[in-house]
Amino acid sequence: MFKKYKIAILPGDGIGPEVIKQVYKIIYIINKIFNLNIITKEYKIGGIAIDNIDNSLPLNTLLGCLNSNAILLGSVGGNKWNNLPLKNKPEIKSLLFLRKYFKLFNNLRPSKLYSGLEDLCPLKKEIYIKGLNILCVRELISGIYFGKPKGNNGYKKLEYSFDTEIYYKFEIEKIAHIAFKKALERKCKLTLVDKSNVLESSMLWKKTVSDISKLYPKVNFNHMYIDNITMQLIKNPSQFDVILCSNLFGDIISDECAMISGSIGMLPSASLNDNNFGIYEPAGGSAPDIAGKNISNPIAQILSFSMLLRYSFNLIKESNIIENSINNILKFGYKTKDLKLNSEKFINTSEMGSLISCFIIKEKLNEQDII
Ligand code: NAD
Repeated sequence: MFKKYKIAILPGDGIGPEVIKQVYKIIYIINKIFNLNIITKEYKIGGIAIDNIDNSLPLNTLLGCLNSNAILLGSVGGNKWNNLPLKNKPEIKSLLFLRKYFKLFNNLRPSKLYSGLEDLCPLKKEIYIKGLNILCVRELISGIYFGKPKGNNGYKKLEYSFDTEIYYKFEIEKIAHIAFKKALERKCKLTLVDKSNVLESSMLWKKTVSDISKLYPKVNFNHMYIDNITMQLIKNPSQFDVILCSNLFGDIISDECAMISGSIGMLPSASLNDNNFGIYEPAGGSAPDIAGKNISNPIAQILSFSMLLRYSFNLIKESNIIENSINNILKFGYKTKDLKLNSEKFINTSEMGSLISCFIIKEKLNEQDII
C-alpha cells in the first residue's frame, strides 16, 4: 500500500473556496501520474465558520488539522465580519491562533517576476530586466505582534499605547539557520533587515546573525536597515536573493516584494514549524471584491500546494512539475484577469486550474519521451 499523505483543507472565505477547487484538480492528477495517495478532508474556518458554528476556528477544524500531515488554507475574513471586536475577527482568532498553536515560526515567501508577466512589474524595464527572484524568510510567532506588555492607558491628552518588540537569542538563531540553509540552496546571498542603529532588539539580531554567518562561509552575508532596503528593492531588486526579517519587518518587506513582482494572485507562502509541519496559503487575502465571479487567479493557491509537497512531504519531482507547468503556461501567454493588460484576452479561474492540470500531464509525458 502507498504511503498516505493527509492534508486538512480549509477553504475559508471569499475567493478561498473557488481557488481551492482548482487545487483538487491538481491533487487528482498528481495522485494518478505519480501513484501517490494524497488524501484530503475539508474543514470550516473564518467567517463561514462564524456564520455556521459561531466560532471562526471550530474544535472540529483544530482536531482535523492535528490529525493531518499539512494544512492547505484558502483565506479568511471579509467585509461581513470586519466590525467584530479585534479578538474575535477571523484573521486574529483563527489564523494567528493556528500559527502560534502549531509553533509555525518559519514563514517563507518566494516572489519572482515570471517570464511573460514582465509588463506587470511597476518598475522601469531597465530595472526589472535584470530579474527578480527573492525568498523572504520571516520570523512569524514572536516580536512586536506577540510581545508583552502591550496595551492602552491614560486619559484625554495623556492617553497612550504601547507594544513590545522582544526577541530571545534562541529565536533569532533558529530562523537565521533556516535562512542561511535556504541561501545555500539558491544564489548563496543573504541580507538581514534590521534597524540596529536605533533599536536594541535589532542590535541583537545583527550580532546573532553575524556570528552565525561565520558557520556559512559560502554565503555572502550583509545587513541593511529597513529604511534602506525598502528603497533598494525599488532601485535594484536583482541584488537580493534571500532576505531575513523579524516578524514586523517581514510583514512590510514581503508585501513590497509581492508588489514589484506583479500580481498578489501569484504569490504563495509556507509557515512551518521545526518538524516541517505547516500551513500553506496564498499571500493575498479573501478578495471579496471578486469572490464568486470565477475571475480570481488560482496560481498562488496552486503554488502554495506545490510548496506543501516540497516542504512537508519532500515530494520534489511532483512540486517541480507543477511549477514548470505554471512557468510554461505563462510563457504561452495564458492569463487570468488580474494578469492581463488592457484589451488582452483572459481565461477564468476554473479554466486556469484545468489548463495547469493538462500541462502537468503534458510535462510528464515529455519526461517519459526523453527516457
Ligand atoms: P486582498 O488580498 O484580499 O485583496 C487586495 C486586491 O488584490 C483586491 O483587488 C483583490 O481582488 C486582489 N486579489 C487578491 N487575491 C487575488 C487573486 N488570487 N486573484 C486576483 N486578484 C486577487 O486584500 P484586502 O482586500 O485588504 O483583504 C480582504 C480580506 O482578506 C480582509 O478581510 C482581510 O483581513 C483578509 N485577509 C486575509 C488574509 C489571510 O487569510 N491570510 C490575508 C490578507 C487579508
